[in-house]
Amino acid sequence: MKALVWQGKNKVEVVEVSKPAIIEDTDVILKITGSTVCGSDLHLLHGSVVEMQTGDILGHEFCGVVDEVGSKISKVKKGDRVVASFQIACGSCHYCDQKLSSQCEKTNSNTIENAMYGGRTAGMFGYSHFTGGFAGGQAEYTRVPYGDVNLLKLPDDVPDEKGLFLSDVIATSWNCVVDTGVTKGSIVAVWGAGPIGQMAAEFAFLNGASRVIVIDCNWRLDYVKSKYPNVETVDFSQLKGPKGVVTKLKEMTDGRGPDVALECVAGEYPKGWLHTIEIAAGLETDTSEILNEMIESVKNYGRVGVTGVYVGYTNHFNIGSIMERGIRFIGNGQAPVHLYWEDLLKRIQKGEIDPLKMVTHRVRMEDLDKVYYKFDKKEDGMQKVYVQT
Ligand code: NAD
Ligand code: ZN
Ligand code: ZN
Repeated sequence: MKALVWQGKNKVEVVEVSKPAIIEDTDVILKITGSTVCGSDLHLLHGSVVEMQTGDILGHEFCGVVDEVGSKISKVKKGDRVVASFQIACGSCHYCDQKLSSQCEKTNSNTIENAMYGGRTAGMFGYSHFTGGFAGGQAEYTRVPYGDVNLLKLPDDVPDEKGLFLSDVIATSWNCVVDTGVTKGSIVAVWGAGPIGQMAAEFAFLNGASRVIVIDCNWRLDYVKSKYPNVETVDFSQLKGPKGVVTKLKEMTDGRGPDVALECVAGEYPKGWLHTIEIAAGLETDTSEILNEMIESVKNYGRVGVTGVYVGYTNHFNIGSIMERGIRFIGNGQAPVHLYWEDLLKRIQKGEIDPLKMVTHRVRMEDLDKVYYKFDKKEDGMQKVYVQT
């Protein structure tokens, strides 16, 4: 079968590999029909996630049709159309019992090292040996461990190109909004106008926000304005001085600042603004300027939520502002997809959520390597691709 594999730093390739087989009796083999590339895949492309191996199959957002089931599978059967969660959860451990599946104890090593550096949350499809070395879904077939837990049936009125995004981006954006306490009347500022930030902006309104302000520096702000007309935007590249964003947000909100700040960036560092996962190889860096911007922007007793992926320790963190002004600083974690996906599927069915607003390109699996390079450079207005397999 064909699959997109990692071939070293900044090199991916569509190659022929062997088809996966059932290993455990709780496995399902899925014939992939749709997948996508996530902002998080760029961390892999850049070789900045440790424990990548040549030949690793990428892809953690995908859907497909059940092809084969292990002897203990009871909830799905051959021919069912399903979406997979990006996390691989066991469904029965301490955290899975609370549907906090991103912290599954069976597919994750709950070590001191984990507590220090993070990153080793539940197993993940196509996301290096750091998260279990599970083959991903940018392929014709993949093996889904704990298939009864990690697959959700898609009804006929939800096409692949919508249902697919329940894997990750929709659940992630939803989690970032509800976990940070966006509620009726909240003024919300979102850093990053990528797919996660865009959906977070949309979901902030769905959860009652009165205003949503999105901060970024490129063409995506125009995209946001065209697709989400109620959203206000700030182009940080046009602002002067190190506190430009903070000053602008205060000006826009009667001097107090937004109630809630959502970090939907990380992994990107134009003009040296960010120091995150990419340069965290030494696992000790300066704080991303964004985090201080968020802390300093929000009103007193405001909330700051971090969904962009960070690794390890950080310095120059404005703990003084957090303490004196009562700021709630919240790590949103990898989104616990299982907590939300049934409800979010219903919202897609009702038309409350339209994932297609994010999709800019439709491509074929065979072209995925070229797509990665374009996606990396944000060329051609590319932000979210629907990959038909
Ligand atoms: P993306 O790369 O498509 O978008 C990030 C955006 O941030 C870009 O438009 C970029 O221009 C903008 N940006 C860069 N520097 C900025 C700054 N200083 N201020 C404001 N904006 C800035 O990424 P995405 O797919 O939207 O994902 C966003 C983040 O969410 C990534 O770090 C990704 O790894 C993470 N993520 C987390 C989870 C989770 O469960 N926690 C799941 C999926 C993705
Ligand atoms: Zn992702
Ligand atoms: Zn578990």
